Amino acid sequence: MSYNIAQRWNISLSAIIISCLLSGKSIAQDSSNKPLKVISSISAYKVSVKEDTSRKMVSLQKLIPGIVLDLRYGTTNNFMNRIMYEEDPHYTFMRAPAAKALAQAQKELNKKGYGLKIFDAYRPYSVTKKFWTLVHDERYVANPAQGSGHNRGIAVDLTIIDLKTKQELKMPTGFDNFTDSAHHDFVNLPDDVLKNRALLKETMEKYGFKEFATEWWHYSLPTPESFDVMDLSFKELMQD
Ligand SMILES: [Zn+2]
Repeated sequence: MSYNIAQRWNISLSAIIISCLLSGKSIAQDSSNKPLKVISSISAYKVSVKEDTSRKMVSLQKLIPGIVLDLRYGTTNNFMNRIMYEEDPHYTFMRAPAAKALAQAQKELNKKGYGLKIFDAYRPYSVTKKFWTLVHDERYVANPAQGSGHNRGIAVDLTIIDLKTKQELKMPTGFDNFTDSAHHDFVNLPDDVLKNRALLKETMEKYGFKEFATEWWHYSLPTPESFDVMDLSFKELMQD
């Protein structure tokens, strides 16, 4: 049994992490040694939105017609092989400017016969802490001390689908594959795969998102310092 657990941890170790580790690093550089501010009640969230309406969390499926969600951490189909979102959300959120930018990207892709499929967007801070508790090793998982772009509601993991077939376009790897093949500078790939990856990158960058060097599927707005880390459940946000 312990062997199985060890195997499972190996899978985790090959995986996790990076989703948000690097974005966390850049935040650490920006905020020097300031303690992390976490919005953890709906009332604190409402106050913060009153101060600045760009902090509003917007439901992606409400804002973006036809967007497809495949929220992997609400299922066992992820590198942890376990459900990380216990509430199994059928909806997800991003801050208003990120959600609007994503809507623009979707609109542009739709004209070409394509659409977006979302693997993850907002991620409650407690889930990032849960990753850390399960695999307490900074080589492999994000240290929650800094929070991530997903915790701030400005990062998204996604791919492109063909609107007719609903199938994902062929990309360099699957979601949460932590090998060199998932890096943007990896070019030993068939032409159509390179083209698909470039289409996602060009479309996302056109609307203000920034790529992440080691994960072709991860994009975020370049202003993490403008948005606090949040620890509100999907249900709480849905009722807002
Ligand atoms: Zn990500």
